[in-house]
Amino acid sequence: MDDPQLGADGLKAILDEGLDELAATAHAGAAPRVAIGLVTAWIFSLLLPWPFCAGWACVVTALEASAWFATRPQFLGRAAGWSRRLWHVSGLAASCLAWVALGAFAWAGGSPDGPVCAAVIWLSLVLFSQTNAYQSPIGFAVSGALPAAAILGVVVLAPRPPGVHLVPVLAIMALAFAFAGEGVVRMVKARRRLNETQARMRQSEARYRVLADNATDVITLADVNGKRIYMSPSIEAALGYPIDELYRMPMYTYIHPDDREALAAQSQALMETGGSMRAEYRVVRADGSSMWVETNFTLVGAESGVDPPQIVSVARVAQQRKELEAQLIEAREAAEAAAAAKSDFLANMTHELRTPLNAIIGFAGLLRASPRLAGQDARHAGLIADAGATLLDLVNDVLDFSRLEAGAVELDPTPFDPAAEGRAMVDLLSGQADAKGVALRLQTEGLGLLTGDAKRLRQVLLNFLSNAIKFTARGAVTLRLAQTPAADGARAQLRAEVVDSGVGIAADQLAYVFERFTQADVSVSRRYGGTGLGLAICKRTIELMGGRIGVASREGEGSTFWFEVELPIAAALAPAPEASAAELDRPVRLLLVEDVAVNRELVKTVLAPFDIRIDTAEDGVGAIEAFRAGAYDLVLMDVQMPVMDGLTATRRIRALPIPAALTTPIVAMTANVLPEQIARCAEAGMDGHIGKPMNPAELLTTIAHWAGTERDPEALARSA
Ligand code: ADP
Repeated sequence: MDDPQLGADGLKAILDEGLDELAATAHAGAAPRVAIGLVTAWIFSLLLPWPFCAGWACVVTALEASAWFATRPQFLGRAAGWSRRLWHVSGLAASCLAWVALGAFAWAGGSPDGPVCAAVIWLSLVLFSQTNAYQSPIGFAVSGALPAAAILGVVVLAPRPPGVHLVPVLAIMALAFAFAGEGVVRMVKARRRLNETQARMRQSEARYRVLADNATDVITLADVNGKRIYMSPSIEAALGYPIDELYRMPMYTYIHPDDREALAAQSQALMETGGSMRAEYRVVRADGSSMWVETNFTLVGAESGVDPPQIVSVARVAQQRKELEAQLIEAREAAEAAAAAKSDFLANMTHELRTPLNAIIGFAGLLRASPRLAGQDARHAGLIADAGATLLDLVNDVLDFSRLEAGAVELDPTPFDPAAEGRAMVDLLSGQADAKGVALRLQTEGLGLLTGDAKRLRQVLLNFLSNAIKFTARGAVTLRLAQTPAADGARAQLRAEVVDSGVGIAADQLAYVFERFTQADVSVSRRYGGTGLGLAICKRTIELMGGRIGVASREGEGSTFWFEVELPIAAALAPAPEASAAELDRPVRLLLVEDVAVNRELVKTVLAPFDIRIDTAEDGVGAIEAFRAGAYDLVLMDVQMPVMDGLTATRRIRALPIPAALTTPIVAMTANVLPEQIARCAEAGMDGHIGKPMNPAELLTTIAHWAGTERDPEALARSA
């Protein structure tokens, strides 16, 4: 049994498919068809009785008029209901049958012209069905199949006109039907293809439109002159204008005035080069507020089937990101300013601390060495000297740690011999260890030459070793150095361990020993001294080298501090600089430039036993005057001074129009000891640097080196 629902659906589909299109064209062609009908009636009145023709013309005209009313809504593009469609279809069928009937009367009329005119009418009718078939299957059924069946009925059943042979008539009719039928099949197929293509296009357009219409990003399509072709509705919410107004706005209206020029230039470049570009700019919303957007523009052209080319833009609000970026920049600037302030503070602090320490350590050292002090006084002088030295260590550690933390320390890798370093270290500390009755040993394994910052590695080892000796009352401290080649053959891993049999560290303290200002417990600093910065410096130093550092310890049994670094293998050591064996064996004329009186006195006292004539100046201006007036073997120049600083004074002296200006050595003697500060001294034209607190031995060696050695400005310039 047929499913009645399916049958109704099928009928509805047939009545739906193309019928409105057929109705619309039928409506448009009503007047010409009425005209043709009237002319045909007049022609046929030559064959048939005129009252019949007039009646026929009335019927056809009435049917056309009825059809005109039936098809008006479809012609106006409105949807039509079932009843209207049926009205139109039955009218069409009636009209076709009226034309078949006209032919039938001519056929049966008895005149010899009748069959010919009938054939012409019928064939025209059959061909007419092709057009209707293209527009709608039901159009074909009522204007093709129905009249064809009626014509056949007439030819076969009606009385045959005299002299007409049925066989050729039927044959030619069959041929005409076949011809028309084949045309109908092609038309129907073409129609179906068109429908399918249109449906696919509608579907895909609907899909894209759904995407574009619902995108939160603003999607627009414009021609190359900026005329908007499409804008996604999200633009309304983004800009606050109704979309119709936006379509009418000239290009760039809602772009922030400050950003228009740049955006126009970018767009111009896009037109010339093609492809896509990203732009960030501000737009001004309807309420006058501005906000940042980021937009991707793409020029689509012939390669995408778009001709002339168009510009697709996808924009999204970037306000939050921009605000965040601005905040980040602000925060970074603030952090940089804070870091700069911190390092300025640090530089000043160390300078200010070193200046009085220079006098304290210097004079305490002199007193300790003086044969005139005895007993308690000598002991007190020694204590001041020791405390001064401890304070200096602290200042150095704080400075070093802060520079490591700020990333201001640069490594200075040179070839070195780890075995020689190990021996030197043990030699240096053996006195301390012996004094405590602790054995100090060195064990090495597979050592060879390496390239690294030996000075920094020494600093770490020295820290490990002096801690180990400090915290070990009896037993031994062992330094183990072992080297293993790394996978690539060009590098090797150096592992250093300092093993002691000392007090050890409690398990809960182990995790913190590498943190700054950490001591295992508060009693430590009372008993052993120290600042708790040494291991923090070690950790950052080893990490700067890309290595690892650690400790294993058991309370009461001892500790093992270790580090591992991977370093390039070195082929040979750099030749050691020749030790200057200079001695102060001749009179020296020295200009001492120093603003602090007590420091001037200290230098004079230290140098008193030697044959050195010392002139002094208290600032840069005084230094230049003294330099012009006298002849000196060496100038010792402080840097931070009132009136004129040492750097300016050095530059002015080097520019003086006298030969001595370029040949006299100038050595900085300053509490400015940071690498960049030392570099600034060299840039100003100084030949050396002595840091404060000054070490008397270093001062004497420097004076001995330069006294009598004239500076060779050309050689210096070359080496620079
Ligand atoms: P300090 O200047 O106080 O020695 P460090 O950073 O070098 O500072 O050491 C931090 C703390 O780690 C020490 O105060 C001590 O408590 C502990 N420590 C370091 N080395 C040893 C060791 N070999 N044995 C026991 N405790 C140690």
